Amino acid sequence: MLNDIEEILYTEEQIATRVHALGAQISTDYQALGPDDLILVAVLRGAAVFLADLSRNIAPSTVVEFMVVEKIKKSDGNAEVKIIKDLDISITGRHVLVVEDIIDEGETLRFLLDALRLREPASLKVVTVFDKPSGRKTEIAADYVGFEVPGAWVVGYGLDYRQQYRNLPVLGVLKKEILTGS
Ligand code: 5GP
Ligand code: MG
Repeated sequence: MLNDIEEILYTEEQIATRVHALGAQISTDYQALGPDDLILVAVLRGAAVFLADLSRNIAPSTVVEFMVVEKIKKSDGNAEVKIIKDLDISITGRHVLVVEDIIDEGETLRFLLDALRLREPASLKVVTVFDKPSGRKTEIAADYVGFEVPGAWVVGYGLDYRQQYRNLPVLGVLKKEILTGS
């Protein structure tokens, strides 16, 4: 797998250190809110690896929920985002932290937050392990960001290319010949 990587952006150790710090920050922020369970809403599949590491670095009691959303590019250039798998519980009046793998254009997150806000959670925040601010098409920012990445296709630490490379422990830029090949 590493043979297909052009450049390693973040090593396993760098990611672990950063995720630990994010968990500590989130623990401090939510501890202050009281004894209610924090609901972590992970967006599959990309955020699964991050969720596993992050959740174990969060001290307050949490509930883990999963959503699947799909972004479809329409012929007019606009995107449509669909909920493929919704939450199994009500979030009304509860504290929700959306766990994302990467924010690029921002449309997926914008849609997701709009949909969740309608359910009137007590609070709604976002943590993303990677952020590609150069790709934004809509103005949106996460409350907690692990790392900023450049405008290239990155894989590893849960992020895929055609469902592969999710189990790569580092975050890397995929070689161009892999992206264009096949
Ligand atoms: P957007 O912010 O562009 O609407 O959607 C973000 C989603 O696009 C992410 O959750 C992820 O699934 C996918 N994505 C965007 N950039 C990358 C990337 O560099 N690598 C991978 N593997 N997925 C990406
Ligand atoms: Mg995603």
